Amino acid sequence: MASHAKPESIEGGCLCGSIRYTVNFPRDHDFDNAVTTCQCEQCRKGTGVLFLRAHKVPMSAVTFQSQSTLKNYHATPGYARGICTNCGSFLSWREEDSEFISLAVGCFDNKYLTKYGRVLAASQKHVWCGEEIPGVTDHLQGNKWRHDNEGEGAELLSSSKP
Ligand SMILES: [Zn+2]
Ligand SMILES: [Zn+2]
Repeated sequence: MASHAKPESIEGGCLCGSIRYTVNFPRDHDFDNAVTTCQCEQCRKGTGVLFLRAHKVPMSAVTFQSQSTLKNYHATPGYARGICTNCGSFLSWREEDSEFISLAVGCFDNKYLTKYGRVLAASQKHVWCGEEIPGVTDHLQGNKWRHDNEGEGAELLSSSKP
């Protein structure tokens, strides 16, 4: 995937436009390993789609131009899920004691997804696959983890190459 063009910055926001942000990717940003899909029930219900696809960047890479309707919802203490209180968009989640934020790639503006989709949204890392839906969400290629992919107890369920 290294041959795919990478953006220096992108813009995104919620459906109603009251939350807008710019991401300035650090020079050493690892695009190939930044995207994760999650099949946990919290992400499923929080987003309304069968699995979340999110791109992890340092908090310092994100600048909000407007965020008056941004609210953090905590389904689990210590984990903030960023939503727009006006339109309901799910924009991000983050572990609050970390320096990183995972941005829902569906909130990136279309022009960036069209041009840089492979490096912004394609994922070989899939977490919470213990909750995948047989015949519906179990088709992803890459490394599948039962729960989280890091820390103690991380369990790799399967690995496949595209
Ligand atoms: Zn909104
Ligand atoms: Zn999740």
